Amino acid sequence: MRFRYHHPIPNFFKVENPINPLTTISEDLLNELEEFILNKGFVGVSYSKLSDDFKGMWDIDWDNILILKYEMSEDILKMKPSKEKTVLEDKEFQDFGHRTFDIVDFLRKNDFEADLIHPLDDTVSLRSIAMQSNECVITRNNMCMFKEGINLGLFMIKTSIKNLPYKKENDMLWVEDFCSTCGVCIDRCPENAFDEDGKVKRKVCTAHKEGCSKCVLLCPFFKRGYDKVKKRYDRKKVR
Ligand code: SF4
Ligand code: SF4
Repeated sequence: MRFRYHHPIPNFFKVENPINPLTTISEDLLNELEEFILNKGFVGVSYSKLSDDFKGMWDIDWDNILILKYEMSEDILKMKPSKEKTVLEDKEFQDFGHRTFDIVDFLRKNDFEADLIHPLDDTVSLRSIAMQSNECVITRNNMCMFKEGINLGLFMIKTSIKNLPYKKENDMLWVEDFCSTCGVCIDRCPENAFDEDGKVKRKVCTAHKEGCSKCVLLCPFFKRGYDKVKKRYDRKKVR
């Protein structure tokens, strides 16, 4: 999730945080917010409620998180690793970062406190926050995959809203079993970047430096989509 070629995103807030922020959102306004997010070009939104243990571990005092998901352009992903590719990936990242500020402003205008969790801030693991949503898994090729896809970029907003529709159980954990029988990413990695336990060696993988996306493009979840892979997996299990 942390790509070395991304540049910091400047602050684009146009609205200040409210002095006495609200903590409860109505169903109608939540629907309006979700529609606003989709209209900004994101493919979905998930919510994480961070536990006290989690907050203690990372030394943070905020706990209500919106996770905005955008689809990384297939055309860019299909380019060979190069400086040009990383520039385009950063441009896309900056663009969606900019849109995230509009969503923060939407929340502030409606009297909620809201702030971007900066994606390049290493003081807290965004991937760990994503896992708290119970709507994603880490695949063998080290991607944070939600049902919308394996090729997602994420932006996160911390907010004062306490009654977001948090999911209690993760129904995607079967993916770990699927990955253990697949291994396409290991077999086809041009850099031999997997260790003997099938884990990506971050120092060897070139995704974060040159924009390699080969294992994403070859992954069944990218080629067929989450639902089709799940259906086939379930069929095999009942045989
Ligand atoms: S290629 Fe196969 S093993 Fe690798 S992440 Fe995709 S499903 Fe998992
Ligand atoms: S080097 Fe490329 S194919 Fe290998 S793990 Fe990294 S991104 Fe995937």
